[in-house]
Amino acid sequence: RVNKTELEMVGYSASEMVGHHVWEFMVGDDFRDYIAWRLRDEAEIGEPYQREFRRKDGSVFPVLVRDSLIRDSAGVVTGLRATMQDISELKRTEASLRAAEENYRKIFEHAIEGIFQISPDGRFLNANPALAGILGYSSPAELLAEVGDIGGQIYVQPAQWAEFRAVMERSASIAQFECEMRCRNGSVIWVSKHARPVCDAVGKVVYYEGALENITARRQAECAMAGARDSALESARLKTEFLANMSHEIRTPMNGIIGMTGLLLDTELSARQRDFAETIVDSSEALLKIINDILDFSKIEAGMLTFEEIDFDINNVAESVVDLFAGRALTKGIELSLVVADGVPEVLTGDPGRLRQVLSNLVGNALKFTEQGEVRVMIRTEEEQSGATMLHFEVMDTGIGISHEQQARLFQAFVQADGSTTRRYGGTGLGLAISRRLVSQMGGEIWIESEPGRGSRLFFTAVFRKAEDVRVQQLRQFPGARALIVGQACGGAVLSELFGSWAIEAEHATDGTCAMDALCAAEARGWQFDVVVFGVDVQSDSGMGFSRRIRDDERFSGVRLVRVVPLNTSEDAAGCDDTRVDGEIAKPIKHRGLHRCLDSVLKSGSAKIPSAASIAPAVAAPHADASCRALRVLVAEDSAVNQKVVQFQLRKLGCKVESVTDGEDAVRAVRKRSYDVILMDCQMPKLDGWETARRIREFEKGRKHRTWIIAMTAHSLVGDRERCMEAGMDDYLSKPVRFGDLGSALEKSPAARRAIS
Ligand code: ADP
Repeated sequence: RVNKTELEMVGYSASEMVGHHVWEFMVGDDFRDYIAWRLRDEAEIGEPYQREFRRKDGSVFPVLVRDSLIRDSAGVVTGLRATMQDISELKRTEASLRAAEENYRKIFEHAIEGIFQISPDGRFLNANPALAGILGYSSPAELLAEVGDIGGQIYVQPAQWAEFRAVMERSASIAQFECEMRCRNGSVIWVSKHARPVCDAVGKVVYYEGALENITARRQAECAMAGARDSALESARLKTEFLANMSHEIRTPMNGIIGMTGLLLDTELSARQRDFAETIVDSSEALLKIINDILDFSKIEAGMLTFEEIDFDINNVAESVVDLFAGRALTKGIELSLVVADGVPEVLTGDPGRLRQVLSNLVGNALKFTEQGEVRVMIRTEEEQSGATMLHFEVMDTGIGISHEQQARLFQAFVQADGSTTRRYGGTGLGLAISRRLVSQMGGEIWIESEPGRGSRLFFTAVFRKAEDVRVQQLRQFPGARALIVGQACGGAVLSELFGSWAIEAEHATDGTCAMDALCAAEARGWQFDVVVFGVDVQSDSGMGFSRRIRDDERFSGVRLVRVVPLNTSEDAAGCDDTRVDGEIAKPIKHRGLHRCLDSVLKSGSAKIPSAASIAPAVAAPHADASCRALRVLVAEDSAVNQKVVQFQLRKLGCKVESVTDGEDAVRAVRKRSYDVILMDCQMPKLDGWETARRIREFEKGRKHRTWIIAMTAHSLVGDRERCMEAGMDDYLSKPVRFGDLGSALEKSPAARRAIS
């Protein structure tokens, strides 16, 4: 008998099946034997088994058969009752599962990474061939068989195994866990692991699984790189040290050359001898500049340039720069001037020395590459930021200019517009490269605008910190004031421009005669100029005759006279009284000095000639060594040449000088008698300057007298000043010690200040 469900499954009718043997419909020859065996079997219900059934249309499908014996009433087996279940779907699922499993197995087997499952107590549960290979075993089976204790056998550092397990206990995964592992042959490799703990239903860790890769090569490369970096740093350090030493070595004899030549120039010399000596000074200064440039550049390259943070007055910085170049501008007949716009904060915080360096570079270049006309420095505020100000600087010249293609390369190291060996202008080509780095460290940029033959304008910006309540420069105006500018030597266009900006009406007269005409014409029309500004070219006798003519004329008693002198020299200042001028301004024209002078001579009401004292701001201060006179100075310096230079300089300043050649003698001398000032060389035999200063301070403890100690060092590296201050010194002079600097440094000593007051 066949039931209906079965008939539908196989596609036959009942009559086509009934009366046929079952095995005729089944695939395989053995089914008949099976039936025979089953009928003989004792078991009532057979084990389910799989077979393939052939449908009427010839197609074959898998079935699951369950059968049981049929017995007659006497218990004799008469047949089999079987049910068939189509298991095609099941079979397909099984096949795809197998394929998937096969797939994963392939990945597992062929992965380059080592894949593992390990038990928390350190046994391998599973490993792929790559893992076995990484650890030097021939197969996973060998690995599993030989390693019973991962912590002890595989991990080189037990602490790393402990750490790995600790992470597995508390986190869901670990990535890039790097550790050392021991291979089968004892060699050690570095691996990087990813892993996660696999937990059971109650959250207990059953095993860890993950993957690892051999990173020994990378590690070695890293080590090699770190080594290379260390040795690069070391060689940079050595280089800087070498440079520091070399600069010391070069500066020391330079000190002798410059100092001694300076002293030589103060003696009776023939014109020829003077010329020779001056050439020596010029060449030495030039050489020193080159040394400084190279030293600076190396420091920048070694990343060793640090910046000071101190309060400074931008006007002072800029003025000191133009003053530095005053002589050169005068010699070349170039009008050099400085204009600081209103609105610039009076006190800023930053590194004035570095700013001075950039400005000097640009002004030096401008003068170097200009044959006639003007060089002007202009400073204004570019941007107000909270707690900071960005200043905008411009150095303008009327020189040879630079072509566009040369401009592009200008800020690179060692590049000069004219790179030929026959070039006209000297220099290292480092100035602008250094300036660019300095400016960028000051948070700004540097750029150029120039046309060949029409001059250049170099710009840069720099950011400085400033206090919130800092005053900004605001110069008063002189509305209604009238000025007459006489002659060509009045500082060029900048004078009339500044007058305009202060609301002063200015007229020009080419010479003394024209000026008198203009004064008379004004008088005839019933008014008078408030101030006449004249240069030294107005008359051959430096304008004296001209000013006397005005002074002697009753009609012009209300006119104030201001003379522009070529350089801020004391002789010129002294001459001022004779010629009865009301004020004097020295070139280079600095707008602040000019304003101060006008402010004092244009004070309303007074038509009187102010006394020399009231015009003091416009006049050069008398040379500042009065206060240094009679200072008792001890010089501690081992180099005989430097010793001589400093002694001469000090004597010239009127000081009483004693010298010692090493630190021990210096300490001994201080114990014996008191000095106002010690000039202390830092590199000395036996006891260096720093230690000497420390011992002197130790000795002075509890005593009333404290010696003012000024360090003299040829090292000009960052941090030198701090080092000296830490040792208890009070001031710092870098070699070569210039006469002027020495004077100013001495003036700062308490003894000198007492002398002034
Ligand atoms: P150097 O020490 O040679 O002056 P810099 O870096 O300061 O080095 O300048 C590089 C070159 O740029 C100079 O050699 C010159 O050719 C050109 N240069 C710089 N400033 C000016 C300028 N104001 N006018 C014309 N050329 C200039």
